[in-house]
Amino acid sequence: MTDFIRFIGVNKDTTTAGPGKRLEFFTKGCIRGVVSPCFGCFNESTWTFEGLSRNLTVDEVVQICNRDAWNRQVTFCGGEPILQAKALVKVAQQLKEIDPDFHFVMYTAYKLDTLMKYGLHFTWVRKKHGDAMHQHLIDYASEAQPLEYDSNYNPSKVKFTLLTPEDITEIMKHIDMIVDGDYQQDKRLTNDQYMHDGWFIGSANQRVIFGPETVKSGTLKYIAADEYNKQRANKAHCKCCGKMVDDTQNFCRNACKARYEERKLLKRTLK
Ligand code: SF4
Repeated sequence: MTDFIRFIGVNKDTTTAGPGKRLEFFTKGCIRGVVSPCFGCFNESTWTFEGLSRNLTVDEVVQICNRDAWNRQVTFCGGEPILQAKALVKVAQQLKEIDPDFHFVMYTAYKLDTLMKYGLHFTWVRKKHGDAMHQHLIDYASEAQPLEYDSNYNPSKVKFTLLTPEDITEIMKHIDMIVDGDYQQDKRLTNDQYMHDGWFIGSANQRVIFGPETVKSGTLKYIAADEYNKQRANKAHCKCCGKMVDDTQNFCRNACKARYEERKLLKRTLK
C-alpha cells in the first residue's frame, strides 16, 4: 500500500499548522488513537480506516497539492501521517521536483529521537486488538518490510515493522519541519496566546524538528513548539510563505511577492 494514501480531507489557507497560510492535508488512520489515544484527542473520526475517507494515489495527492497550495506550503496531519509517510515522502519528492519552493510540515505523536534509533514497530495481538487493526497494519506496512511472526509462528500475534530508522532518515530529508510528541490537552497552546499567522496548534510538550538540518548535522535540530510560537508572535511575516521578515517588509523576496499578487488577481477575477 505504499503508493496509496488514506485521505479524509483538506483545509485551505489554515494559519495554525506551521509557517504562513498552509494547505492542511488530513490522512486517516491512527494506531495510537485506537490503542491508547492522546489525552484530549480532538480528531477521533480519523482513528480507523472505516468511515468517510478514500484511497488516493501518490499522483492524485501531488495534483491536489500542486493545484491548491498556491504558496507551496503544505502540512500533513491526521490521524497519524507518519504511518503513511513512505507515500507522503514520494509526494514531497515529486512536488519539490515540480517546484523547489514547496515546504512541508508533518505532525506525528511519536518522538523523533526514538524513531531515529529504533524505527516504528507494532505487535498485533488478536485477542487485544481485533482483526480490523490487523488489516490496517497490513495496509500500512510496506511490501518491502516482511511481517515477523513470533518464534512459534503464532498467527494470533504478529510483529509489524512499519518504519525502519533508515525510513525515518528518508522522511527527515524531505519533510522540512516535523512536529513530534503526543497531544496533551492540559498543555494546549491556546489561541488567545498566539493568534497570528503561522503558529502551531498543539501542546507545549511538542517540538518542531528541522528535518534536513537534522540529517545533515547528525544531531536533532529542534525548537519547542511553544518557543516557536513565541518567536513568531508580534513579528512581521512574509505574506506568501510565512517566513519571518523585518517590520518594514511584506515579503521575504520578489518571487513571493509575485506569487501573492498573482493569487490576489486570480481571486478578484473569480469573484
Ligand atoms: S491527537 Fe492525533 S495522534 Fe493523538 S490519538 Fe488523536 S489522531 Fe491520534
